[in-house]
Amino acid sequence: MKAIYPGSFDPITNGHLDIIQRAAHLCTELIVAVLQNSEKQSYFLIEERLDMIKKATQNLKNVRVRSFEGLSVELCREEKADCLIRGMRDIGDFRFEWEAAQLNKNLGSIETLFLMTNTQYAFLSSSRVREIARLGGNVAHWVPESTHKYLFPSKEG
Ligand code: ADP
Repeated sequence: MKAIYPGSFDPITNGHLDIIQRAAHLCTELIVAVLQNSEKQSYFLIEERLDMIKKATQNLKNVRVRSFEGLSVELCREEKADCLIRGMRDIGDFRFEWEAAQLNKNLGSIETLFLMTNTQYAFLSSSRVREIARLGGNVAHWVPESTHKYLFPSKEG
């Protein structure tokens, strides 16, 4: 099975990485697709988000990282992928993900497979990580090492 895990990854967290590792185990090939959205301002540049994910997944041989714009269903067609992978943290995610999955099924007959969060990451989001890092908090346990230097550029020199 060839699957695509799309998202903003702004930045990648250990919650995302956990989903990537578990999905990679289930797939022959997993593409992590980073959304480049000209309508929505991201905190990190697309090149930075790609670099963080590539470094964090370099030991996973069946994982490829790329950017994309536009609809996930078009990306699935282009890549000839079998399905989308999404992570699910709580009932808040469910509402949004349910609608997106229905749309993708209708737009392009694309199935979405959900992996439930590992409970230790259930509270974790990119926006919380950015906020805690901005306030000087320690996020070392919540993001891959490749993300540290982007969150704390001055400490790394
Ligand atoms: P979006 O694609 O909505 O911009 P993200 O890039 O933050 O959101 O997340 C991409 C996918 O990863 C989504 O399916 C989201 O629910 C999931 N995800 C985000 N954080 C976690 C986490 N801590 N545990 C499990 N899944 C997560």
